[in-house]
Amino acid sequence: MYNIPKTAKACVLTGPNEYEIKDNVEVKMPGKHEILCKIRAVAICGSDPEIIRGDLCGIWPPAYPFVAGHEWAGEIVALGEDIQDFHVGDRVAGEAHKGCGYCENCKKGRYTICLNYGDTSTGHEHYGFIVNGAYGQYQKYSIRSVSRIPDNVTFAEAAMCDTSGVALHGIDLSGITVNGTVVIIGPGPIGLCTMRLAKTMGASRVIMVGRGARLAAAEKLGADICIDITKEDPVEAVRRITNGLGADEAFECSGAKGTFNQSVRMVRKGGRVVLLGVAKDGVMEELPFKYITHNEITIYGSRANPNVSQKVLGLMSSGQLNVKDLITHRFKLDQFSEALDTFVNRIDNAVKVVILPNEEE
Ligand SMILES: [Zn+2]
Ligand SMILES: [Zn+2]
Repeated sequence: MYNIPKTAKACVLTGPNEYEIKDNVEVKMPGKHEILCKIRAVAICGSDPEIIRGDLCGIWPPAYPFVAGHEWAGEIVALGEDIQDFHVGDRVAGEAHKGCGYCENCKKGRYTICLNYGDTSTGHEHYGFIVNGAYGQYQKYSIRSVSRIPDNVTFAEAAMCDTSGVALHGIDLSGITVNGTVVIIGPGPIGLCTMRLAKTMGASRVIMVGRGARLAAAEKLGADICIDITKEDPVEAVRRITNGLGADEAFECSGAKGTFNQSVRMVRKGGRVVLLGVAKDGVMEELPFKYITHNEITIYGSRANPNVSQKVLGLMSSGQLNVKDLITHRFKLDQFSEALDTFVNRIDNAVKVVILPNEEE
């Protein structure tokens, strides 16, 4: 039996842009089909700064105090009622979304677009967004939201299961053309994971579109061709590189205005566009209507990471997905503001910043 403290340390949001590291936060015991986890590593997600700033408060989070954080890995320290397949001591990685389980979408496995999203009375939960998350030493989770970690994958790598899972879900939707050309807009963590996975899935060439230090990093991390948007028109560049044909698949991973339109114009006849970047609310794009129809361009919206955790963890374990070099920084929970600042301002070329709430990984 693991000795579970009554209270523990967590980063608690107390209002828009206000948070405190408190060491007396109640450790809530798991209920039916839930497990209590000791959080070993939690990666800062691009959506976390927004939640911390309170840009969407009332929704994410619905109220204060709140504990954010959803890209985590840790170990099981207690079991709730009716747990068959997990044991104390198991190493697990988490997912943010837990669907209600019974709506039409959940039944089809599409639980990140659960029809009961946000209604916790149906059993729906969105950890770190609507219900408390992983910026703390302990948190309880539904067994539906965890996957076992292979022995040779570290907790910090396993915390990348969310980011790489987001990339893989997009790829699952579109497919990757074997020996084809993939273009990725946005060399952030999701773009870089998409690049690695596209290669693993058989793409011969990955063209990365971006600028600055992140584009330079993408080149070092394995992009075949880099297009700097400050120097050339990315659509023209992709057309030139592909002898006028266009890329087989385009993955929009930046959420910046104008890039949806560019993605559509970058792909070949019959090409596929996947939208992974999260644009700000209210961003509208003009699209070449007839061009999309006449060239049979397929467009996929892709949300989060359903049904991919075990796959990405397996790929990490087999060496087909390297995320080690995407984790550039590690901090303790007490250094939360420094960690956040490092991530947001990309200090020291930060890509993925991981927090270790229990000090050691
Ligand atoms: Zn995330
Ligand atoms: Zn549902």
